[in-house]
Amino acid sequence: MSNEFNRDGSHLAYCPPVEKWEDWVELDPEAWPRRVEKHYSLVPTICFNCESACGLLAYVDKETGQVAKFEGNPMHPASRGRLCAKGPATINQIHDPDRVLYPMKRSGERGAGRWTRTSWEEVLETFGTRIRKAIQEGRGEEVMYHVGRPGHDFIMERTLQAWGIDGHNSHTNVCSSSARLGYLLWHYADRPSPDHANARFILLLSAHLESGHYFNPHAQRIIDGKMAGAKLAVMDPRLSNTASMADYWMPTYPGTEAAVLLAMAKVILDESLFDATFVKNWTNWEEVEVDGFVAKGQGFAALIEALKKHYARFTPEFAEKESGVKAEVIVKTAREIATAGSRFASHLWRGSASGNLGGWQPARALMLLHVLTGSVGTEGGHNLNAWNKFVPKTFKVPPPQKRWNELLYPREWPLCTHEMSFLLPHFLKEGRGRIEAYFTRVFNPVWTYPDGFSWIEMLHDEEKFGLHAALTPTWSETAWFADYVLPMGFSSERHDLMSQESYAGKWIGFRQPVNRVLRERAGEKFEYTYQANPGEVWEEDEFWINLSWAIDPDGAMGIRQYFESPYRPGQKLTVDEYYGWIFDNSVPGLPETAKKEGLTPLQYMRKYGAFEVTRDVYKQNEKPVPAADLAGSRVETNGVLTKAGKPIGVMVEDQPVVGYNTPSRKLELFSKTMVDWKWPEFALPEYFRSHIHRSAQAASLGQPGEDFDSKYMPVVEWPKDARGDVYTLLPIFRLPNLIHTRSGNAKFLYEISHKNPLWVNPVDAKKLGGVRTGDLMKVHTEIGYFVLHAWVTEGLTPGVVACSHHLGRWRINKEDQVERMSSAWVDLKEVGKGQWKMRQLESVSPYESADPETKRVWWSDAGVHQDITFPVHPDPISGMHCWHQMVRVEKAGAEDRYGDIFVDTNLSFAVYQRWKALVRPAPGPAGLRRPLWIPRVVRPDVAAYYITKP
Ligand code: SF4
Repeated sequence: MSNEFNRDGSHLAYCPPVEKWEDWVELDPEAWPRRVEKHYSLVPTICFNCESACGLLAYVDKETGQVAKFEGNPMHPASRGRLCAKGPATINQIHDPDRVLYPMKRSGERGAGRWTRTSWEEVLETFGTRIRKAIQEGRGEEVMYHVGRPGHDFIMERTLQAWGIDGHNSHTNVCSSSARLGYLLWHYADRPSPDHANARFILLLSAHLESGHYFNPHAQRIIDGKMAGAKLAVMDPRLSNTASMADYWMPTYPGTEAAVLLAMAKVILDESLFDATFVKNWTNWEEVEVDGFVAKGQGFAALIEALKKHYARFTPEFAEKESGVKAEVIVKTAREIATAGSRFASHLWRGSASGNLGGWQPARALMLLHVLTGSVGTEGGHNLNAWNKFVPKTFKVPPPQKRWNELLYPREWPLCTHEMSFLLPHFLKEGRGRIEAYFTRVFNPVWTYPDGFSWIEMLHDEEKFGLHAALTPTWSETAWFADYVLPMGFSSERHDLMSQESYAGKWIGFRQPVNRVLRERAGEKFEYTYQANPGEVWEEDEFWINLSWAIDPDGAMGIRQYFESPYRPGQKLTVDEYYGWIFDNSVPGLPETAKKEGLTPLQYMRKYGAFEVTRDVYKQNEKPVPAADLAGSRVETNGVLTKAGKPIGVMVEDQPVVGYNTPSRKLELFSKTMVDWKWPEFALPEYFRSHIHRSAQAASLGQPGEDFDSKYMPVVEWPKDARGDVYTLLPIFRLPNLIHTRSGNAKFLYEISHKNPLWVNPVDAKKLGGVRTGDLMKVHTEIGYFVLHAWVTEGLTPGVVACSHHLGRWRINKEDQVERMSSAWVDLKEVGKGQWKMRQLESVSPYESADPETKRVWWSDAGVHQDITFPVHPDPISGMHCWHQMVRVEKAGAEDRYGDIFVDTNLSFAVYQRWKALVRPAPGPAGLRRPLWIPRVVRPDVAAYYITKP
């Protein structure tokens, strides 16, 4: 027992208290058994290895000035001093001997892999000139910023709007757009913020305890909830670690989750277990028109009867037939959810939402359960991300751009929540435009996106992409095809503001460059962060400020003014001024709290790394409309309060309250938006079958059954040589300890995971001819195939195979680019027009480098890159790429080798066309491109929303 304590009596698992951060003393483990003290300065920053933004403490060795390790920051309100494996592995990333340390410029043909070092001045001059010319010639939409891992909020929006361009692209449509649409249709906010810690029943359609959204902060609170007696149910075809912790594991057949959720809703309706007051007060039930029933004037009881009738087909038995989950489990779970009432919490993000055609339906059906139980905005219930995420204001905000970029938001997908980014190669192939200056930012579409070979074809084409800079901390498969590779910092090498909806509270976190902060504390001065970072690794804040000055050096274009100091007129903005202004003026309570310690708000944030803004987050919809706003307002016939034509609230029980940001200011049980935008059959939460439903599988073999509805489902056409049985492939589950493409040389992490075998249920293993773990399997997609090992396991529902997307990195050069701890050296060839073959030449092995760890690599597998063999599947409504694949599986042949990949991009273009045929394009009402009320990242001026003038 005594071994668990330090000499001063503190527990070994105890986080160092703030008063000791200036000089924290630990024994040097390498000196053991001698007792040698090490002195550290502890500097808080924010993890950059997933979206959760947990608080890190960098331990800087006072003797060497180097960061020695990262642990959790106990002062961070969301992560509370705890981290997942990826947080401490930041140390591997910053010391990675293969990382990019200097700005590099292509010196040979694009894609030939030859690079020379260049200067930041040359980079700014080259891009500044090209972008200035494009903007001045009215070609602003040819400038595009494309973000993979966000975590750099606010300044980018400012930059693009200052440039006056519609150029923000993101990865969101391969990540979470479907779930976002499902939530958004109810309440405008596009993400849930469940109060797990105070819930009585938690339903997860995600793998939260191992890898889900806001992983570590949420996992902590789910466990808090469980420790306080909450029950946990998990809907997942895979027995994830999360499912293994659950009271109920519901292994739904993929894409049938909405049927199960609607069956639960039916139980709650039929057994009168719902919160009638909440539904009556807080939904737009009077707008419901369904099956010939018009609610207006009929009364609430008639509405409930109409809903019962409408959902009558969703019997638990029907849901069992669709999903494979037993009817009695569905009924029991529904009753437990109803019993939890306002303390019912849930989460759905990727998984069923991101995998399936119609993946927005489960989120919408799940919200119906929250609405019926009155668990919206409550303690222990479902809250809105917009209520729990802090968004600061900044000074001198540029006006919205006047342009609309159809390469981002094309008119075919008017309800897409985010940019149709994964279709960019196909849009360019169709001749819809070109890109003059393209910034990929911590973004690796060749590897993380479906159809990576179409990306390679387009990125290679200098007509399509005039100039491409990859802003990235590490080499990547995409950087290989760039013109410039520009090194950006990891968690301890950059500034950013972060805030996420992690719990029932609102916080802001401050990422900061640790070495610069410490050296400035000691009296040194730096103009730019790259002067204090390793090599010339920069941070984006300063890059964008300087690039904006390079575009508009004399201020004549009106751009520079937004990057001038708010304190020193006409002078270049510094990061201290940018963040200092925000902390001084825009974070409620921070200046007062800082003052109590004799600090400025900026000094406070540099000292603690995070600040909790408020805990007053529940029931924001019930806040009264401020008296000043009420003056001059009017109540419309539907109860909405408007002022100067704009909605400001809604009357509920004769009280003017702010409500939600929806057109009805209430939760939209009935979506007039769906009706107006040509999908009236989805005015209420519904269920239609996914593209990998059994009926679609039968149709792909020429036997469409009665279940097959070609109005919604594209028919899969198999490549001529595709053989084997048809299965559904789940390709999107995360491994808890890997990051998409930045963990390449994170030895801590690759030691734990370095294989991504094909999960096969024993029933299917038998059907496939007696497959055993380790056998080589060939998986045919619609456009090609990949070859990998089998892992026979009962942890997966039969009829489904699975493979994690976190492995399978590759590099074209034997000796460099793409970290060698995680990638295979491959032979990549275009063997016919659009026909690509990849074969692994050498897998992972120990190698010499500046880091002795690289000699200690003991694993010899890099995994197999499956995503590149997937065609694009744009959902016709949400625009989300539907990741699940219908595949044919067989034992590999004598000619096949582990890691082999083949793809025909001619086929991928044909699949794109088949999916595109399902859309119902804009214009919508009044000639709109998309509904005005649905949010857009970097929102343009209202006038740009109209295809035709209103
Ligand atoms: S959950 Fe893990 S990877 Fe994500 S921010 Fe927290 S520590 Fe980093």
